[in-house]
Amino acid sequence: MFSIIKNRIKQGYKTSKYPLKEIMLPEKYRGLPSINKDCEKNTIITCAINCPTQAINASEQSLDLGRCVFCGLCEEISDGTFIKFTRNYKTGASDRRQLTLYSDDLKDLEISTNKYFKKLFGRSLQIRQVSAGGCNACEADLNVLNTPFFDISRFGIQFVASPRHADAIMVTGPITRNMKNALIRTFEATPDPKIVIASGTCSISGGIFRGSSEQLNGLDSILKADLYIPGCPPHPLTVLHSLLKYLGIIKS
Ligand code: SF4
Ligand code: SF4
Repeated sequence: MFSIIKNRIKQGYKTSKYPLKEIMLPEKYRGLPSINKDCEKNTIITCAINCPTQAINASEQSLDLGRCVFCGLCEEISDGTFIKFTRNYKTGASDRRQLTLYSDDLKDLEISTNKYFKKLFGRSLQIRQVSAGGCNACEADLNVLNTPFFDISRFGIQFVASPRHADAIMVTGPITRNMKNALIRTFEATPDPKIVIASGTCSISGGIFRGSSEQLNGLDSILKADLYIPGCPPHPLTVLHSLLKYLGIIKS
């Protein structure tokens, strides 16, 4: 018993002070990309051709964050003259259209706080996670939110085992045909009102699986999502920020 207490004192308090204090992300972290619309046309076309998920539209000089898997190839090819990734982790959006980025405007994407859900779930949100055919990296990084460092439960947010106990479903993966019915049944078993969250590029657009006949190119093909969290996988901080902003627990 004494050794447990001694160890506890030695370890100290490990939970991050976020959102009161920002979490420092590593140098190599790829967050919100900045787009240089004055880049040479041929470079933009080369980036678009080589993008593995067709996230770049060369004629519009735009990048669809809902398709991007943050592989960094476009930044490498253009040597940062077209796309340059920043360390801005605030990449969630409550409207799918906002995920198409057009210029080097680095302002955060807009997650509108839903006042109705804020009143209902602002102090307690139970989430049922549904893995619909992903590679498991999205799920692994969601688990990180339960570690002492992030400790998502301090915001009243918890992952639950049953959809009947849930206020939200958080979907990962491109929605494989085999998971379609299970996902719909989970959605139906979750009591109204509920929040539907697409977490990870696969669940937004199909990601690297897009176009395969074995999947449905993302959640929007069968359910309307309230919140989109891009990334492959999204950083736990991006998921946390998106949830807190959507529920009005933080302002920015
Ligand atoms: S980082 Fe995104 S936009 Fe760039 S090549 Fe990779 S998937 Fe395409
Ligand atoms: S978005 Fe990326 S990390 Fe998440 S399931 Fe798809 S491939 Fe895996």
